[in-house]
Amino acid sequence: MRYSGIRVIKEALSGHKGWGPLWRDPEPKPHYDFVIIGGGGHGLATAYYLAREFGESRIAVLERGWIGGGNVGRNTTIIRSNYLLDGNEPFYEFSLKLWEGLEQDFNFNAMVSQRGILNLVHTDAQRDAARRRGNAMILNGSDAELLDTEGVRKLYPFLNFDNARFPIKGGLLHRRGGTVRHDAVAWGYARGADQRGVDIIQNCEATGFKIEDGKCLGVETTRGFIGAGQVGVSVAGSSSRVMALAGMRLPMESHVLQAFVSEGLKPVLPGVITYGAGHFYCSQSDKGGLVFGGDIDGYNSYAQRGNLPVIEDVAEGGISLIPALGRVRLLRAWGGIMDMSMDGSPIIDNTHIEGLSFNGGWCYGGFKATPAAGWCFAHLLKTGQPHETATAYRFDRFRRGYMIDEKGQGAQPNLH
Ligand SMILES: Cc1cc2nc3c(=O)[nH]c(=O)nc-3n(C[C@H](O)[C@H](O)[C@H](O)COP(=O)(O)OP(=O)(O)OC[C@H]3O[C@@H](n4cnc5c(N)ncnc54)[C@H](O)[C@@H]3O)c2cc1C
Repeated sequence: MRYSGIRVIKEALSGHKGWGPLWRDPEPKPHYDFVIIGGGGHGLATAYYLAREFGESRIAVLERGWIGGGNVGRNTTIIRSNYLLDGNEPFYEFSLKLWEGLEQDFNFNAMVSQRGILNLVHTDAQRDAARRRGNAMILNGSDAELLDTEGVRKLYPFLNFDNARFPIKGGLLHRRGGTVRHDAVAWGYARGADQRGVDIIQNCEATGFKIEDGKCLGVETTRGFIGAGQVGVSVAGSSSRVMALAGMRLPMESHVLQAFVSEGLKPVLPGVITYGAGHFYCSQSDKGGLVFGGDIDGYNSYAQRGNLPVIEDVAEGGISLIPALGRVRLLRAWGGIMDMSMDGSPIIDNTHIEGLSFNGGWCYGGFKATPAAGWCFAHLLKTGQPHETATAYRFDRFRRGYMIDEKGQGAQPNLH
């Protein structure tokens, strides 16, 4: 069924009896050409593009829990293409272009909203860095505008401009950045993949790999063995655990990141803002809640819940930037598990085991990457070669010394 305005009117006039489930609930088959482990945004997008771009149909996505239960339904929904380094920016620009046509492409309302993202600067050195990043973005086909204090004041008059310690000296505005309704992305890709014949198998945990003579022949699961021509692992915060089942130790750690939503307010924030003097970022959902977050919790964990010191730290950052936030009540908070890589950048690569490939290490920035990560992983699974925008995302960059250290923090996952 295609969704359209006419369809909505027709259903409204006939008692809404024609709407069906968005995807089937099939039993696993004994063998597929492609098995993707992980039914998050990336795994579903990979299956979707394998079917839509590369004409494949014998594909299964195995999800341990339910679709949308992982980070794809837990993130703060920000999309952007505002990176500095050559290894990153062409990839994120590719992703943003895919976001721009996504809803028409998979015929689903994902509420893609290019409301702009503003990174605030508070020192002269930060302004220089913002100018340099803006130029790199423009050179890679993205958009960037450097605003002065008055430019920021016009957009966000209620910020704490004259804070003696952290005065706002301007900001880097990326107008095409914005937000997308996160779980609708999972549902849209799941529906689009299902329509193209992909089996989405929920409540099916991968528990092992069958590897013989250096070749991966399939996946052991809680619902039996499933044979595969190619296996793609895309399990975000569980990356180290799942790849350990294949005997691999990844250059990665898992950390918790928390998100927060306030009570509903009248429209106050027109776009996304990030504080440059603390770790705090905020947008307003269409329901009115302020959606915000900050640093990761900073210790290794596989628990999807966070701790109070980070809640306090995020609240401090928020109130220092927007004093009025102190009057707002917090409605909900939750955590997700981040696959933090050593240099803060991801990996989309084959492994030394034939037929086993990996996509992960997205840290806390993988939502915006969803369309491109899916496309590039599908490209890798089908052709064996990296997509032109993902050539830097290889395992061996750590051995070769070609780190993509966007923040310049060194090999310290908790700081990226
Ligand atoms: C609080 C928070 C805020 C964030 N904010 C942003 C943001 O604003 N912008 C941004 O770009 N990124 C953000 N991120 C990061 C982003 O959400 C992730 O990088 C991205 O969603 C990871 O890809 P995914 O959607 O495929 O992950 P997930 O949705 O986590 O998918 C992985 C799936 O694998 C499944 N799985 C795990 N083990 C197995 C197994 N053994 N067998 C079968 N299935 C398995 C899991 O159940 C899960 O559903 C945020 C993350 C969090 C937690």
